[in-house]
Amino acid sequence: MTTKKIYDVLIIGGGPAGYVAAIRCAQLGFNTGCIERWVSNENKPALGGTCLNVGCIPSKALLDSSHHFEFLQKECGNHGIDAKATIDVAKMMARKDKIVSGLTQGIAGLFKKNKVDWLQGSASFKDSKTVIVKDTSGQEETASASHFIIASGSIPIELESAKVDSERIVDSSGALSFPEIPKRVCVIGAGVIGLELGSVWRRLGTDVTVLEAAPDFLPTTDLSISKEALKIFKRQGLNIKLGAKVLNADVHEKHVEVKYQINESEKVEKFDKIIVAVGRRANTSNLGLDKIGISTDERGFIEVDDLCRTSVENIYAVGDCVRGPMLAHKASEEGVAVAEHLAGQKSHIDFNNVPWVIYTWPEIAWVGKNEQQLTQENRAFKSGVFPFLASGRAHAMGDNQGFVKVIADANTDSILGVHIIGANASELIAEAVLAMEFGASAEDLARTIHGHPTLSESLHEAALAVDARAIHF
Ligand code: FAD
Ligand code: NAD
Repeated sequence: MTTKKIYDVLIIGGGPAGYVAAIRCAQLGFNTGCIERWVSNENKPALGGTCLNVGCIPSKALLDSSHHFEFLQKECGNHGIDAKATIDVAKMMARKDKIVSGLTQGIAGLFKKNKVDWLQGSASFKDSKTVIVKDTSGQEETASASHFIIASGSIPIELESAKVDSERIVDSSGALSFPEIPKRVCVIGAGVIGLELGSVWRRLGTDVTVLEAAPDFLPTTDLSISKEALKIFKRQGLNIKLGAKVLNADVHEKHVEVKYQINESEKVEKFDKIIVAVGRRANTSNLGLDKIGISTDERGFIEVDDLCRTSVENIYAVGDCVRGPMLAHKASEEGVAVAEHLAGQKSHIDFNNVPWVIYTWPEIAWVGKNEQQLTQENRAFKSGVFPFLASGRAHAMGDNQGFVKVIADANTDSILGVHIIGANASELIAEAVLAMEFGASAEDLARTIHGHPTLSESLHEAALAVDARAIHF
């Protein structure tokens, strides 16, 4: 064991929760260290966590590449462009890997700039003020701090009936690195990962079947959005089967056989690969939490209050390892909030204003409450819908699927939720988030001038539609 390092704040995990917390702590004048053990495919230590290495960034890189490919194959003819598209998977993967390594190195650069100490290795608590950091060669050092922020993230949930072997049966990380286009893929789970990665491979030519155990499709989205999405995704060729229970997966030399139950009958199908995407659980079992009296729930989540305080006074926890949505931006905001709280500032996160985005095409994005939730809460609301079919810009782009829905309180007109399915929904939602953050009414949005011709005019029109006065629909 080597010398002891001493910090004001030590952060465990260098993902979007941890690295952002570290930078903010350093900006606020704390002597800050961040312990991260990730080792990249090239066997190099890397910051950025799940998000940069095997999550948000690589998945979006492949979604963009495959979107361009599909456009060239199926749509560019409509623009009078004659193109023959072929795909070089190795090159597409190399592009993705380059983006990832560029961005992860960028975080290392930000650490240097902000004087955050990166301790490379795996941390586990010795006591509430000290951790042991073990590097890849097994060398150990201790580090202590007045405050700790646990940001250890999450890992995929495994399925007994389809155990990941990283060959035929993979998790999301494996599905981001297929060396060639598989002919037939079974995705287990029609959640965010299943739909995004299922879309990537479908666009590249794979026959994709998605087996979803639940009877409903995307139950956390507004019902009108999930209905529209299911219709569109099926039309695109995603073979989505709801209420499908996977019984077992038999790996053979050249294929994997999946037995599943649907509508009380059993089916067996052969695939080249299975992608298991049935959710994620907190990554907290390796932290030695028992040594400091912090307990976790059955999915490993650390219990925290609104300020991300654990049951131990000087220890906070943020990001995927605590309650709330497993989203990078939520994780980062919690990191900032804790840093500012430690500096004596007032910090607050409104979980109702966290945007959600699914990067399929069309994209799906929402903020606030949906109609089902409001009905359940017995809250009186009114909603306005505007289809992209009536948007000039959407027509010019050749992308007029979907719609925008604005939901407002029936009495006060304050915006309660905005739900979008359509091109660039991921960008459009930002205006709605800002409006809700400022407590805007539908009337406020309706009175805001939007550039023409833009997709954002559809948000404007949906706000007008709340009061039955949309102009173009
Ligand atoms: P993580 O990013 O998981 O980082 C935790 C870090 O802690 C890891 O680097 C880990 O190595 C480290 N660590 C853990 N234990 C220790 C230890 N004992 N010692 C040292 N280090 C440790 N979210 C979005 O908002 N948008 C998206 O588009 C999106 N796409 C995704 C796509 C995929 C395929 C996946 C899997 C996830 C996606 N997510 C997306 C979710 C997003 O990646 C997570 O919400 C986010 O990474 C959580 O950040 P975090 O810092 O809490 O955890
Ligand atoms: P998820 O919770 O979104 O979806 C999992 C799906 O699997 C659910 O529909 C669930 O009903 C289904 N399921 C569970 N057990 C099953 C079984 N045995 N058989 C068949 N289906 C089963 O989880 P995910 O897609 O794995 O994503 C994990 C997390 O990563 C999400 O919480 C999400 O927030 C985050 N993520 C976000 C983005 C984004 O923001 N665009 C992208 C990817 C991942």
